[in-house]
Amino acid sequence: MDFDDAPQDKAFRDEFRAWLASHRPGEVPADAAEAFAFRRAMQREMAAGGWAAPGWPRAWGGREASVSQSIIYQEELALAGLPPIANAIGVWNVGPALLVHGTDEQRARWLPAMLRADEMWCQGFSEPDAGSDLANVQTRAARSGDEYVVNGQKIWISYGGEADRCFLLCRTGGADERHRGLTVLVADMRARGVEVRPLRDIAGARGFSEVFFTDAVVPVADRIGEEGEGWSVAMSTLAHERVGAITYGIQLRQKLDALLARPEMWPEEPVASALRAQQVGALYTAIEIIRLTALRAVTKAARGEDPWPETPIGKLLWSVTAQELPEVALSALGMEGLLWPGDARAPDGGRWALDEIAMRMTTIAAGTTEVQKNVLAERALGLPRG
Ligand SMILES: Cc1cc2nc3c(=O)[nH]c(=O)nc-3n(C[C@H](O)[C@H](O)[C@H](O)COP(=O)(O)OP(=O)(O)OC[C@H]3O[C@@H](n4cnc5c(N)ncnc54)[C@H](O)[C@@H]3O)c2cc1C
Repeated sequence: MDFDDAPQDKAFRDEFRAWLASHRPGEVPADAAEAFAFRRAMQREMAAGGWAAPGWPRAWGGREASVSQSIIYQEELALAGLPPIANAIGVWNVGPALLVHGTDEQRARWLPAMLRADEMWCQGFSEPDAGSDLANVQTRAARSGDEYVVNGQKIWISYGGEADRCFLLCRTGGADERHRGLTVLVADMRARGVEVRPLRDIAGARGFSEVFFTDAVVPVADRIGEEGEGWSVAMSTLAHERVGAITYGIQLRQKLDALLARPEMWPEEPVASALRAQQVGALYTAIEIIRLTALRAVTKAARGEDPWPETPIGKLLWSVTAQELPEVALSALGMEGLLWPGDARAPDGGRWALDEIAMRMTTIAAGTTEVQKNVLAERALGLPRG
């Protein structure tokens, strides 16, 4: 495997790095609402420079970037210490699905505002009884002339509070039809009958919400694909996670480097020192394996092959390592490591205490660890179904 950028990829990297250097948006604010406004302004600037959605077609403001260039883009953002764009769910998940399954009229109506973060999007898939078992979605959309009338509840909807539109997975067929009875609609989050109730997560953030639909009306013109095709439309939004995988390794490496710079990490006492060396070695090795697994996935995708089983292996390794890293940090930092952001005595601004709590989500979001293990056991190792 060749680890160097191909000439066209190097040119892409150089151009984006230079653009970022000359459009540096400043430091990300600590306050959540201010940080969101920062990411929104950053996305608008990127859209103006043609950098908000590099993988999209040029006709819609993208650059037709290849898989490897999309990875480079994420890498350079992470290396510049910048967060993802504000409308990441729109641009990375929904946009590609609209490009494949939407009509020209729908694309013209929604993509430009999505690109500039003028309209924010959320992804309404999960329900109280439909998370890992997504085919069990119960939110019902009943056809009535030129409209659907939607009733049901979604949960854990990231950016539900900020979103203007929701890419909504609904049941239009019978409950026993499972995947075949589903349809994707685009719901107006400000419409009558749509109620958003913010949820506070374990780390205190209000990143996701419950969304209740009570006789909410969605025009048939806002259906994506045909009735009953919702499963394949929904699955195409999840394909972006393959691209995200490699940046996970970069961010972990940045965190590990920051941790290694702390003097508390290097005790003089021989037993403690040997133990710490083992912890650091294990973390370093895991992060390298995540990086190399992601590169393998990218190589397969670039050849037009399915990046399997690297994608679930990478997600699994990343989610576990993301939780182990703050454990090691807290074991080195002692009591002070538990101090929360906002406390002047907190080492590194309290990021390790925050990560210890906030990273609990890595083994749940985008497919739980148990489900990833089942998938690998059955499909990659050929073990019998449990
Ligand atoms: C930070 C975050 C952001 C999210 N954002 C969104 C969003 O924007 N939009 C959206 O639609 N959803 C979102 N989700 C929801 C996410 O997709 C679900 O939480 C996830 O799919 C798991 O579903 P669940 O919570 O219903 O858990 P369940 O599926 O109920 O699982 C509960 C437990 O049972 C285990 N389990 C389930 N099935 C099996 C099985 N067959 N074998 C073994 N063990 C099993 C699971 O591993 C888990 O430990 C988000 C979640 C998080 C944490």
